[in-house]
Amino acid sequence: MIYLDHNASTPLLPAAREAWLKVSDEFFGNPSSQHRAGLRADKILDDARHDLAGILGCEENSLVWTSGATESNNLAMFQASRAAKSEDRVWISPIEHPCLIASALRYFGEDRLDWIPVDASGIVQLDWITSKLKQGRRPFLIAVMAANNETGVLQPWREILQICQENEIFYLCDAAQWIGKYISKELGSCDWVVGSSHKFGGAKGCGFLKIPSKNGFQTSQRQVIRQSALIVGGSQELGRRAGTENPASIHAMVVALKAREAQIQSPGFFSDREMWREKLESQLISALGRKRIQVLGKEVPRLWNTSAILMPEPQNCRLRWVVKLDRLGVAVSTGSACSSGQEKISHVLQAMQVPNSKATQAIRISSGWETTEEDWRGATQSLLKLIQVIVPPHTGNIPQRESS
Ligand code: PLP
Repeated sequence: MIYLDHNASTPLLPAAREAWLKVSDEFFGNPSSQHRAGLRADKILDDARHDLAGILGCEENSLVWTSGATESNNLAMFQASRAAKSEDRVWISPIEHPCLIASALRYFGEDRLDWIPVDASGIVQLDWITSKLKQGRRPFLIAVMAANNETGVLQPWREILQICQENEIFYLCDAAQWIGKYISKELGSCDWVVGSSHKFGGAKGCGFLKIPSKNGFQTSQRQVIRQSALIVGGSQELGRRAGTENPASIHAMVVALKAREAQIQSPGFFSDREMWREKLESQLISALGRKRIQVLGKEVPRLWNTSAILMPEPQNCRLRWVVKLDRLGVAVSTGSACSSGQEKISHVLQAMQVPNSKATQAIRISSGWETTEEDWRGATQSLLKLIQVIVPPHTGNIPQRESS
């Protein structure tokens, strides 16, 4: 199988597997136990916290281990809601992962959310943020992801961070798709940072949340934030997340992340992978013609591994591109993993104003660190084969819109 769905999940990196097994075998004690077996397991957590803090550029005591990005986003929104005043508002992008949108709705309610618009290429509009601030409006929290999981489009998170710092606004950055694909050092300056182990070669069910540091604006709110736990009933993680930690997966996660950070710094890493992707995209465009296919975010910075493509509607065929490709041995996705398999239109594509008829034909190809040029070539051949069989010659034009 050619696996091109790494934004949904990644295979376990061999070094992470080894690290996981070693800790499971040798450090099986409960990290909260007072005997030596417990202390040794606790040391694994301390070391992982130290290393992760170094990678992100943050304080060790601002890191909370969680079960993944969904829990981290829920915890962040819960903590923010605990510290905010009842009139405080949240500015959030409409292209966030559903777990962040759902927790914002749960903990703040629709009436307290303002949606930051995105343009047709899928980038949040910084102008909207700056013009609202100029009008004297100021939210308690801004939530904008680092990179979108469906389109791969990179968001201006560094600029948003700076705006937030200048205006004393808390910033929550869901970086689940950034971490491991680019250097994460500057992320630690964001108030909340969300990461998930299985997005970069670690085990599933493991992640972290970087929470606001003790010092900074709104000191008393920071104190509330740092003490608020969503899962209660134990003093683990300084009381911020009850439940026995998972030293094996946490250790494996940090091992995987270190390996990824080294890998992406090897010469030609990004340029090779972008070139292989470019070949696939240009071959599809020449096979179909520019009017019948659209690569989302092609003209703007996007993750080196992602290609989100609006394909033409297949002829006499009810099966989706994803199913057809799977039968040829190529695993891709329709959009976010959570909504795959449902006929629901992607909220990300809707926010980008992609017509519904086109959004249903979207495929997301997301390669991994180990994906080869041969894999890209194989996927291209399968797509070209399908195009010949199931695409009618002159239908399914993509409505042309003004470039953004
Ligand atoms: N946030 C983003 C940007 C994601 O891409 C995902 C998963 O696709 C999540 C959150 C949820 O991650 P997890 O599977 O770790 O709960």
